[in-house]
Amino acid sequence: TAQPTYASTSPTTGEVLATFDFASDADVEAALAAGARAFATWRSATLEERAAVAKRVGALFAERADELALIAVEEMGKPLGEAVEEVEFCQAIFDYYAEHGPALAADQPITSFSGDTAVVQKRPIGLLLGVMPWNFPYYQVARFVAPNLVLGNTLLLKHAESVPRCAEAVERLLADAGVPDGVYRNLFATFTQVETVIADPRVQGVSLTGSERAGATVAALAGQHLKKCVLELGGSDPYVVLDSDDVEAAAKQAWETRLYNTGQACNSNKRIIVTDDLYDGFVAKLVDLASGLRPGDPADPDRGDDTYPPLSSVTARERLQEVVDDAVAQGATLHVGGEAGAGAYYAPAVLTGVTPQMRAYREELFGPVAVVYSVSSDEEALTLANDTPYGLGGAVFSTDEERAARLARQLDVGMANVNTPAGEGAEIPFGGVKRSGFGRELGPLGMDEFVNKRMFYVK
Ligand code: NAP
Repeated sequence: TAQPTYASTSPTTGEVLATFDFASDADVEAALAAGARAFATWRSATLEERAAVAKRVGALFAERADELALIAVEEMGKPLGEAVEEVEFCQAIFDYYAEHGPALAADQPITSFSGDTAVVQKRPIGLLLGVMPWNFPYYQVARFVAPNLVLGNTLLLKHAESVPRCAEAVERLLADAGVPDGVYRNLFATFTQVETVIADPRVQGVSLTGSERAGATVAALAGQHLKKCVLELGGSDPYVVLDSDDVEAAAKQAWETRLYNTGQACNSNKRIIVTDDLYDGFVAKLVDLASGLRPGDPADPDRGDDTYPPLSSVTARERLQEVVDDAVAQGATLHVGGEAGAGAYYAPAVLTGVTPQMRAYREELFGPVAVVYSVSSDEEALTLANDTPYGLGGAVFSTDEERAARLARQLDVGMANVNTPAGEGAEIPFGGVKRSGFGRELGPLGMDEFVNKRMFYVK
């Protein structure tokens, strides 16, 4: 299928607000040349100089929070308050690497048995490509850019076709913050141009956040051309509730977690697993919370709790509907929700009775559908939790912390949480195993990916 054009399309009305031309091949060549040229000088600035630029980037994210948030609302339907939170998180990420980056990238002396001097020096590797999705159009870019900017790498970015105005706003922000010409460039690239960029000898690595499909394509190209790659892919995170002294509150927390970003988060609790003694009350509360909701305007700051925003696009809604419809056709129960409305609206839903032959059992449900499973023991909960091709995150809840931790320690995931939906922060590493990808972003580990850990030995 042909790649769609970069276009801002309102998910509330379906109206195309603006379209953007693909980059020309000459634009791509100019960006490659500028990125390679800029690397020569950017790498020789001090860590502190680059950190100071990152600090200014963070400050500009804060200053422009409202304006940036509104673009995200318009392009992908994120509720305004959540969009502002996302932009504020970007500030925290740039601040974190501005403050801690120089220490994280500092030389590490090795105790040499011979008595000679051996030091591991963390050096930038060069020009990198980022390929990013629309679901957190600023945060995804920030977690790629901030550590690499401070390290001294230079960056090209291919954003999702549905968020071109967010992409432009980030490029403008970085330039306004004093990021030198050529150090960061946005490209409205075609897939063929992405291939050209990855193949180019001036490019040293690629970081992709997105679906398995895109990840597999980009990783194959990276492999073919021997380039380092980091992949942050999909997830179907288990959210296990073993026991609770307040089942309604537990269900409410699970529901709110599931609805965050209208269910379009890679680490959303896509499979809720509860013990059978809690199950009926838990599902009843979810159904109660999902009932009577109506479509609301994501741009309205006073949008009531009884409304829901649209999904990011009509295509996103159709993909979700297909998986839910497949489950229902094979005998799953859709208790509430699941109706399509105008634009990309989709009523938040509660689904139970999902069995292994259904697509919903193995595939990622990228939208506001709470899928609940019942189990009769901790062992059964663990088996079900790990029975997925994905391995991004997971959470386990119990009034007995050790009981929850025992199960959480056996999850095949990159991020295991006990008695909280997800531990998050600029300092907390993020990433997965299995088909959720490899490599880590954020925290100290996020600065360790695109780096030459150069051994420096002096006799
Ligand atoms: P997507 O379709 O894979 O798109 C992600 C990016 O990859 C977009 O820029 C897209 O460009 C590009 N892309 C797609 N196919 C490509 C190809 N053949 N060659 C080069 N680039 C290609 O994913 P999405 O639907 O936008 O995002 C949702 C997915 O991202 C979910 O699976 C979600 O779980 C995952 N995600 C993971 C994380 C994480 O940290 N693990 C975080 C957020 C989201 P176009 O827009 O032009 O198609």
